[in-house]
Parts: sequence; C-alpha cells; structure tokens
Amino acid sequence: IPNSVSGSGSGSLLSSVARAFCSQAPIRATLFPGDGIGPEIAESVKQVFREAEVPIEWEEHYVSKEIDPRTQSFLTWESLESVRQNGVGLKGPMATPIGKGHRSLNLTLRKELNLYANVRPCYSLPGYKTRYDNVDLITIRENTEGEYSGLEHQVVRGVVESLKIITRQASLRVAEYAFHYAKTHGRERVSAIHKANIMQKTDGLFLKCCREVAEKYPEITYEEVVIDNCCMMLVKNPALFDVLVMPNLYGDIISDLCAGLVGGLGLTPSCNIGEGGIALAEAVHGSAPDIAGKDLANPTALLLSAVTMLRHLKLNDKADRIHDAIINTIAEGKYRTADLGGTSTTTEFTKAICDHL
Ligand code: NAD
Repeated sequence: IPNSVSGSGSGSLLSSVARAFCSQAPIRATLFPGDGIGPEIAESVKQVFREAEVPIEWEEHYVSKEIDPRTQSFLTWESLESVRQNGVGLKGPMATPIGKGHRSLNLTLRKELNLYANVRPCYSLPGYKTRYDNVDLITIRENTEGEYSGLEHQVVRGVVESLKIITRQASLRVAEYAFHYAKTHGRERVSAIHKANIMQKTDGLFLKCCREVAEKYPEITYEEVVIDNCCMMLVKNPALFDVLVMPNLYGDIISDLCAGLVGGLGLTPSCNIGEGGIALAEAVHGSAPDIAGKDLANPTALLLSAVTMLRHLKLNDKADRIHDAIINTIAEGKYRTADLGGTSTTTEFTKAICDHL
C-alpha cells in the first residue's frame, strides 16, 4: 500500500531523520492539534502512538488568539520555529474564516515554511467497499502559489481581481518532486493536470516546466490531461492514473474528488514537503465544525498522515504496525465511525485500533 510520501531528493532533514537513526532518545515532533475536530483526532493519534510505543515526543503548539506581529498571523513565531527546528510535524485542521480579511493559517504555514509540495496518497482500503477496489493514486499539489497567492483587491466598486501566480521556479520544483517521487516509489506514469487551453500563460508555463523535467526521466511515462476531462476520467476509471501533479487550486479540488472514490475525507492523509526536507503531515479534510466536540470524527486520515510522518523518519516498523491496525479495524467492521456507516465514537474507534496493534 503506497502510504509513503517522502523521497524528495532535496534536503537531508539531518535534524530528525539522523536523530531517529543515531539515538535512542525520543524524536521531537511538532503537533498542531488545530481547530474543530482537530483536538479530538489529535488525541487519537497521541493515544495510538503511546500504545505502539512510538519514540516521539510531541511539542504541542496552538493557534494564538492574537496576531503575532512577527508572523502577521495567529500562528506564533515560536510555533513556526518549532517545525523548523524539529523538521517534522503533524497538523490538525485549521479553520479559515471566510472573507474576514486575515491570511489563512494554512497559507501562512505553507508560505513561511516553504512547504512546496503537498503529497496526497489515495488508495482503496482493503475491507472497506466503495464503487472501486483498485484506487491507487498520488496527487501532488503545488502548494505555494497559483490562485492561493493571496493577492486580491477591488479594482473599482463591484469589480474585484484575484491574481493567479505561476512561476518557473515553483513549477520546476514541484514537477521535479513528482517525477523523483514516481521514480523512487515504483510508479510508472506522471500526469500533469491543467487548463492551459484557457489559462494559456499560467498553466502554459506550468506545463512547459513539467515537460522539461519529464525529459530527465525517460523511464516515466508523461502525459498532460485537461482538468475537466481528468475529473470525468477519475470518476469513470481511477485506474487510468498513477501520479498526478498540478497547480494549487486544482490539487485542492482533485484530491477531494479522489477522497470520494475511496470512502470520503475521513480516510485520506497528506504530507507537506518543504525545502530542506521539512515534512508537515496533515489530513486532507478541514475542521468539520458540524461534528466538532461530539466525539464523532473519524481519526483515520490524521492517523494515516501520522504514519506518513513515521515513514519520513524511517520508523517503518512502527508505521507498518499502526497502519495495519487501522486497516484491520476498519476491515473487521465492528468499530467504524458514522462517516463509514458505523455507530462508533471517535473514542471507541481509537480504542479498537489500539486493541489491534
Ligand atoms: P471539512 O473537510 O471540514 O468538512 C467537509 C465534510 O466532511 C463535513 O460534513 C464534515 O463533517 C466531514 N468530515 C471532514 N472530516 C471528517 C472526519 N475526519 N470524520 C468525519 N467526517 C469528516 O470542510 P469544510 O466544512 O469545507 O471546512 C471547514 C473548515 O475547515 C473551514 O474553515 C476550512 O477553511 C477549513 N479547512 C482546513 C483545512 C486544513 O486545515 N488543511 C482543509 C480544508 C478546510
């Protein structure tokens, strides 16, 4: 099961991976429990890690109630510094008030830590039936620019403008990550997803960069697919795709579509990869305010994200053990949360996973 997300050629992540190899001391990792269901599912991860005796010491950081002038954000300088120092972390979902005028916390993290690639594995879980049982996709989303540049303004009354920024540097970087990932994870095909027929300059540049990188990887099949056609093909036959690389907004949308193919947002993990090898894992889903505080959330996506963090640290034995316990619990079917058609609470489901370790 392709639940590994690391493998970039860039950076050595000396601080955390080397410590994982060289010392018996616990590895420090940053934990942002986040908003909404975040604290509940972060608690599940902590509990499962304790039971599995994972040698991780969490450094917990919370979203501040006031803007830190050093970051211009509700995320403090200390919390960003914690990720920089530790090199690895796990992030719960963070809510973004709509149209309230301050920079999204997720955007702040991605930009400040230069988390340039968001890797979203999506695969059919054995024992959990959906329309398809053969989904095995990796979505790689450019994470720092595109429509998420945050450059929006009113031109005149009644007219607003939002700038989509595509740079050669960021496009080459994410394309290189995608091809390197494909090569090092036994993948055969990289599909660049775009709308260059309409966004000729921006998506056109993105494609040009992908083509340039593709030439360096003759062993990997390269193709270009227009985003609307990609959606139709994914819904009809997800096995047509392998690794998909795309600009920011398309990645956001396509990965939710992919989550729907395997059973929903409660199941899909992701990991943000930054310059210098930083890895900040997080679930694909948001803070789910509709079920927050009710002990109803499915912690699987955050747990599987935590598993990707363990693989990044080369703690593969622990990663396998936790991964298998999650899969076996879901496959057994006795304990499932409501989003998977079950009646278990987050607490009961977490305990069942611990019992399967
Ligand atoms: P959402 O992902 O929070 O919820 C969408 C639907 O999926 C809801 O019905 C929710 O109950 C369900 N769901 C999500 N995760 C679940 C889980 N683990 N278990 C069971 N059900 C789950 O999307 P939204 O409602 O559009 O966004 C809510 C907030 O989250 C917004 O403020 C948004 O900006 C933020 N958000 C944050 C992130 C992030 O931190 N990376 C990602 C997406 C959205």
